[in-house]
Amino acid sequence: MRLKDKVALITGSTRGIGRAIAEKYAEEGAKVILIDRSGKGLDKAMGEMKAKYGVAYGYVMDVTNRSQVQEVFAKIIEDLGTIDILVNNAGITADAQIYKMADEQWDNVINVNLTGVFNCTKEAVKIMREKEFGKIINISSVVGLYGNFGQTNYAATKSGVIGMTKTLAKELGRKNVNVNVVCPGFIATEMTEKMPEKVLATMKEKAPLNRLGTPEDIANACVFLASQEASFVTGAVLSVDGGIVL
Ligand code: NDP
Repeated sequence: MRLKDKVALITGSTRGIGRAIAEKYAEEGAKVILIDRSGKGLDKAMGEMKAKYGVAYGYVMDVTNRSQVQEVFAKIIEDLGTIDILVNNAGITADAQIYKMADEQWDNVINVNLTGVFNCTKEAVKIMREKEFGKIINISSVVGLYGNFGQTNYAATKSGVIGMTKTLAKELGRKNVNVNVVCPGFIATEMTEKMPEKVLATMKEKAPLNRLGTPEDIANACVFLASQEASFVTGAVLSVDGGIVL
């Protein structure tokens, strides 16, 4: 019960890595807030969480919609009183080599993966600064460290999130807010299902641990970073990637 009674908001948490983080946080005693972009997956996910953990909170919020983000954060404060942990997990890809990349592909990925992190963090920080406690965990990618063919837009956002994290760690340390970033390698979710089998096989081979990661691998790192055990860790870039970057 490393997160007992902590209020944790995880964006993009009805499926994939976000859902695994939500589950692990609930197992550790946190009051978990599921966030869904459209609301389509929310009832089902909340039902499943409620059945397992007895309680579930959920809100519809598109991280790119600034006024909606402000409204939802205000509603959460009204309903739950606070936010202790924010995991900026929501993310998308829209791959193409740059000469084929449509402006829309660039804009959409920047809006979700970078501006979405800004929008949510800005609201969370208002609460965390005041209470002088908070944990912010941003989900970047190995692609943000080393680049990846066909992902100029995605890599720009994931590198950007690392820069944001380090800066926020400097700004918020005195307010007892830890800000860290997790860089997953290739993880088996719907996002990687879109990738060609051959590419995934190569990625698996390249990793010394010789497998794709699971959403739970990432969730375990996020539990550590949100816990008291990581109270002296801030501005860190934690790769959870089977060693692929070596
Ligand atoms: P998925 O595609 O499985 O899930 C993405 C989640 O983000 C969904 O819940 C989706 O909601 C949500 N989302 C997308 N856009 C928005 C938005 N505008 N507002 C709110 N929520 C939104 O992805 P993964 O679980 O694989 O990825 C999670 C994070 O991990 C991402 O940031 C990704 O970049 C990162 N990552 C993933 C890796 C991988 O190999 N899978 C590797 C490295 C990093 P909806 O259901 O409505 O679409």
